Amino acid sequence: MIATADKLLQNKVAIVTGGNGGIGFGIAQGLLAASCAVIIAGRDRKKNESTLETLRKTHTECKDFIFDANSESSRKNLINFALETYGRVDILVNNAGITRRSLEPDLLSDLDWRQVVDTNLNSIHYLTSALVPNMKKAGSGKIINIGSMMSIFGSGYAASYSASKGGVVQYTKSCAVAWAKYNIQVNAILPGWIDTQMTDGLKTSAPVRYQEITGRIPANRWGRPEDMAGIAVFLSSQMSDYITGAAIPVDGGYSVY
Ligand code: NDP
Repeated sequence: MIATADKLLQNKVAIVTGGNGGIGFGIAQGLLAASCAVIIAGRDRKKNESTLETLRKTHTECKDFIFDANSESSRKNLINFALETYGRVDILVNNAGITRRSLEPDLLSDLDWRQVVDTNLNSIHYLTSALVPNMKKAGSGKIINIGSMMSIFGSGYAASYSASKGGVVQYTKSCAVAWAKYNIQVNAILPGWIDTQMTDGLKTSAPVRYQEITGRIPANRWGRPEDMAGIAVFLSSQMSDYITGAAIPVDGGYSVY
């Protein structure tokens, strides 16, 4: 039997990396509204605390954890915290991400290249690999990786970002194939252009480009973090049990036009 929307994720526990702002915050709000317990994991203590305060106004089962995706001990501590607090993790949303830009790919520093690939791709593999034995033991699990339009298109300005996000989709498909037998579904969400801290700069530093992008989006508006909530709830719920290895654009039609 399928539960009503507000109870869809009752008794489920989720970790949302980068859940202290932007798209991760939108996703956390959606999961909480479906009665999921959520741990938001971000680096910035103040952001974590103020986001938690906001979320707790409407939802009680929300906790924060100070977490650096690129630190092995931090990844272990996050999983231990979740297991000690709730005894299980049903849903992992690998959302934390960064970008670095350069005029052309060869002008990107090695450090920038490594930081982006480490954060956006390598850390997903490490965190997922540390958690998935628990899901295998539990006999179910939902893993949601956040890709991008740049998982589909190339970007001359953001080569490391594109490469990492392309990798996220192939990684998603590989894990989906491997772990279907454990009843673990692994899918990716590919957000379009979403108004967050990551894209804030464009509005002020390149307003013409910002408007050009708006004009190219069939929905004729930038996305909002809460636009990612519905798909995240769906992919976290039993309603998507036969969907695995999918990379789903949520982009106002940007990728089909
Ligand atoms: P934000 O910059 O608003 O959020 C990024 C989040 O990632 C923050 O919560 C940040 O936490 C966290 N984060 C970054 N590095 C680390 C790290 N090393 N360890 C832990 N947390 C980290 O951007 P968005 O919300 O836009 O981005 C979220 C995801 O969505 C990213 O993967 C991004 O690539 C993707 N995306 C965004 C699009 C957009 O148009 N905005 C489009 C397509 C994909 P803290 O501040 O504490 O460091």
